[in-house]
Amino acid sequence: MKKYFLPFIMLTIFETVAVALWLTQDNIFYLFNFSYIGISLSLGMLLYVRKYKYARRVAQFLVGLYMLVYLGLICGENMQIEGFWYYLFTGVFEAATIHYAVAKIFGPLLFGRGWCGYACWTAMVLDFLPYKVPETPRKKIGWIRYLTFAISLIFVSALFLAHVGNIEKIMFWAFIIGNAIYYAVGIILAFAFKDNRAFCKYICPVTVFLKPMSYFSLLRIECDKSKCVSCGKCRKVCPMEVDVTDNSRKRKNGTECILCFECVKSCPKGAL
Ligand code: SF4
Ligand code: SF4
Ligand code: SF4
Repeated sequence: MKKYFLPFIMLTIFETVAVALWLTQDNIFYLFNFSYIGISLSLGMLLYVRKYKYARRVAQFLVGLYMLVYLGLICGENMQIEGFWYYLFTGVFEAATIHYAVAKIFGPLLFGRGWCGYACWTAMVLDFLPYKVPETPRKKIGWIRYLTFAISLIFVSALFLAHVGNIEKIMFWAFIIGNAIYYAVGIILAFAFKDNRAFCKYICPVTVFLKPMSYFSLLRIECDKSKCVSCGKCRKVCPMEVDVTDNSRKRKNGTECILCFECVKSCPKGAL
């Protein structure tokens, strides 16, 4: 039964958030929204412990498609970082602000970059590409993320400062165009650098929140040094080039771990 502890904890966390927001915001949507996400994520974890090969992908599709298609396209919520700035500036505690607070700002203190492994609709597509493990050395262009972060903030600030009318509609189209750009850039970079997750490593503005917060993550992969034989297999399968055998918080690329568990699956000694 011990192996079902993690899916159970995940479901409990999300149900607590769902009920708390439902009651405090007096809006049943939050009960539905966070229950759905919690059930999807715990189902993915449950399938993982039952050794189903595509467990992570199931969760990624259930959550990613829900956010992209239902919340984004049908409900018209900009769930990207521009939507976060928009709702933050208007002072409205809406889906995008709550989503960012739970999944990308405070949540990573608990579950690190689980969002990037199990829910992101951009990575949901990028993970289909052929370079699951990078085939070229890492580039020193991670600074681009700060540029895209600044551009998103300046774009939304400019709309407010210029008192542009009908911002809501602009935000809807910004969501569609922004996603199209993300997918196009993500796919081009994946092929150019032979690395499916190149977009995540160098471009994604959300990592400006995700990286520092996940540094303190409670949930992280640890290495049992007494079992490890230094075969290096875990590092060979890692899509984010994390030195997972180093247990310190300062491990190489430690804030990039997406908790995909590929290293755990590949370890011949069960050390992770
Ligand atoms: S780094 Fe950005 S694009 Fe990549 S999975 Fe995380 S949120 Fe999605
Ligand atoms: S392979 Fe291991 S260290 Fe690398 S991202 Fe996945 S869980 Fe993290
Ligand atoms: S795969 Fe396992 S045994 Fe090999 S280096 Fe990694 S943790 Fe150690």
